Amino acid sequence: MSNNNNPESGQSSLRARKRVCIITFGCQMNEADSELIGASFRKRGFEITDSLKAADAVVVNTCTVRQRAEDKAISQIGRLRKWKLARPNGRLFVVGCAAQKLGEKHLKNRFPFVDEVFGAKSIDSVDALVETHFGKSADGPETAGIFRSPVSAFVTVMRGCSLKCSYCIVPAVRGEAAYLKPEDILAEAKARIAGGAKEIVLLGQTVNSYSYKAPGGGLFFTELLSQAAGLPGLHRLRFMSPHPIYFTDDFFRVFRDNPKIARHIHLPVQSGSDKLLKAMRRGYTRARYLEIVAKIRAAAPEAAVSTDLIVGYPGETEADFRDSLSLVAESGVSFAYCFKYSRRTDEPGLAPDLDEKEIELRLDRLLEAVKKNSAGILNSRIGRIEDVLLEAEDFGRTSANFVVKPESGAGLEPGTLVRMEITGVVRNALKGRLIRS
Ligand code: SAM
Ligand code: SF4
Repeated sequence: MSNNNNPESGQSSLRARKRVCIITFGCQMNEADSELIGASFRKRGFEITDSLKAADAVVVNTCTVRQRAEDKAISQIGRLRKWKLARPNGRLFVVGCAAQKLGEKHLKNRFPFVDEVFGAKSIDSVDALVETHFGKSADGPETAGIFRSPVSAFVTVMRGCSLKCSYCIVPAVRGEAAYLKPEDILAEAKARIAGGAKEIVLLGQTVNSYSYKAPGGGLFFTELLSQAAGLPGLHRLRFMSPHPIYFTDDFFRVFRDNPKIARHIHLPVQSGSDKLLKAMRRGYTRARYLEIVAKIRAAAPEAAVSTDLIVGYPGETEADFRDSLSLVAESGVSFAYCFKYSRRTDEPGLAPDLDEKEIELRLDRLLEAVKKNSAGILNSRIGRIEDVLLEAEDFGRTSANFVVKPESGAGLEPGTLVRMEITGVVRNALKGRLIRS
């Protein structure tokens, strides 16, 4: 056992509890998986730490959605050589999507000091893996305090993805879509609320494709959403990411009628060009995307929509790129994550990859357009009265997912829902004044 309270030396000492440091790369699914891994360690008496020096075990949860993400994870593993040398009894696990793609053999050859390699498809057996190193679990409070923020918790509703977007490696490393049982999802959400969560985020790669077949009937996304929104003690329900092809009229009705469902939808579009949407095999057109955004706003005029965009997909002409630029303003998205195309498993066959410099220039132009658009949308919120869920004394979020910084944090309790008047904009956030009732 490597009990250690001298972070510099890595030697044994009197510290009673062991610690695990979980380093997470990539998307919310990875963050949710890290929470599961953390729970396994907690059940065995571990504390979670951010400090590598204080850690008895390290888990690197890797991403491979873009080459850069994979490279970052690989460099991180390389840097852990020293950590392992100083702690021969320490345990180093490499898990997640890059682990799935590269495989145990490759990673252990390259990094012989790694103890276990565990791909994203095996996440359900993580507890068994931790058991082989650290023994059977005690009945510890496994979910207590494991949240994406002090008040918000992820709840996974599906694993994998069955769509075949041309550029995307996710289905290859996470497998076909598999939906969790509704009763398990709701039980997990209840446990998180009992542990202090005020907000739940339902997670899945195409979360609104959720369906669960059972004898005598099934359950679809909107029913799951309604049931989750009705859980006692819950202030707010979010979900991500929905896919444009799975929106139904029923969804817009449930969304309209249930204000606990957050007035923010992250709806990745990827491109504003119909030619590229087709090449990417996204299954919708620009017009259909804009129609969905309009329906979201018709159901809830105060709702914000954000998106993901890919720049430099092979064959993207200046005209295609301009279609993405114009979509930002036309859809009125509050924010957009913009990514340079990274070749993964696909062979687009449309055209050679674009010149890297040209992609950089387009990315800068797109980021500028997004920034300008977001500034306008933030300013349009000034004067509104908003319910703000406080995540800290000096930080909260509106239902539309805008960050609000209170003008004065005195006496504000994280986890409470407070009314604020929006008084201004500070960088990418809103400023709010508490309205005392
Ligand atoms: N399932 C979500 C959807 O379809 O909207 C997206 C999941 S993916 C992990 C997150 C984002 O990464 C995508 O929306 C896309 O913008 C981006 N992405 C995925 N593959 C990419 C690639 N090869 N190059 C650049 N960006 C990529
Ligand atoms: Fe990847 Fe497309 Fe599935 Fe999203 S929907 S995870 S982009 S294949």
